[in-house]
Amino acid sequence: MVRIALIGCTGSIGVQTADVVRRYPDRFCFSSLACGHAGEAFSSLLHEFAPRRALCAHGTFTPPAGTRAVGQAQELFEDCDVALIAAGGFAGLNYTLLAAAAGVRIALANKESLVCGGELVARALKKGGSELVPVDSEHSAIFQCLSFRRDAPFERLVLTASGGPFLHYTEEELRHVKAADALKHPTWNMGAKITVDSATLLNKGYEVIEANRLYGAPFDKIEAVVHPESIVHSLVYFADGAALAQLGYPDMRVPIQLALAYPERLPCEAPLDLPSLGKLTFLPFPKQKFPCFSLAVEAGRAGGTLPTVLNAAAEEAVRAFLADRITFPAIAQTIEGALSAFPREEADTFEHLAETDARARACAHTLIYGISAS
Ligand code: MG
Repeated sequence: MVRIALIGCTGSIGVQTADVVRRYPDRFCFSSLACGHAGEAFSSLLHEFAPRRALCAHGTFTPPAGTRAVGQAQELFEDCDVALIAAGGFAGLNYTLLAAAAGVRIALANKESLVCGGELVARALKKGGSELVPVDSEHSAIFQCLSFRRDAPFERLVLTASGGPFLHYTEEELRHVKAADALKHPTWNMGAKITVDSATLLNKGYEVIEANRLYGAPFDKIEAVVHPESIVHSLVYFADGAALAQLGYPDMRVPIQLALAYPERLPCEAPLDLPSLGKLTFLPFPKQKFPCFSLAVEAGRAGGTLPTVLNAAAEEAVRAFLADRITFPAIAQTIEGALSAFPREEADTFEHLAETDARARACAHTLIYGISAS
């Protein structure tokens, strides 16, 4: 039995992880469940799965018999085999660091852990002797193509991108899109923040940074290509020109179950039906039209505190966009403005990053009011 500490159990990845556990009750159980905000969804998961420990970052809840409400986040990682970190945003980084310190295997779905805290996470993994398995579909694909070896040699990595809902929009049309349009993702079912990040292609920039941190790939050996069907989840090119790809329907439950059962593979209901797919399409990546991608890659290349500034500004800008406070192009303008206001510093401690995160959010707020007033 694999005992799972699931952090972020009420979000999109959390809900799909619960599906996986329901499907394989003899293989998986939850030892801990944690969420950001108390509510009906959290209570119902606690009653269904009866974990030994539970934590809610904001708000109170009544644990069912047999479940203990813990006071300290690190208690969540006691008596568990895998920590699935699915909390959203910068908040996820602290849980990843605590799980690494506890020495448990980490199934990582929180992008910000590697984007903002890549250096800290690498250090904590080494010190705690724990292993990290990616959940993000692209990095899971690369992990599989590298035979589950993060240190395997390769020539370059190619990340596939659906292109999001605005792939064929003109720059003029992009000025007028609304939050509701951005939330209609063509292939993947995800939370609101990441769905908007997929529309701005910021998400693909984050994934370039993650690939650099996960596989030690230099930035000039990581590329992105548009693949609207989201069937090829990413590719690895080797020295002899051979390329390996991983294919499957866009369903996050597949990389989730692999990260939990790894290196074992569990049976799946819907293997790929190639004749029904007919053909697969690949298009050049539209860097020029979606500046968030290059802003992310450049911040990742600079490293230190700059990816944290990027992320804090992005979280605030997307929140404002979802509330119809700023336009779609203003998301990139806010990020660019925040990045130019902060010098690069070494990312030496979590506290330093948390303080940078707070200052960058304040800066983004000022920029958003300026932009939305014009
Ligand atoms: Mg992805």
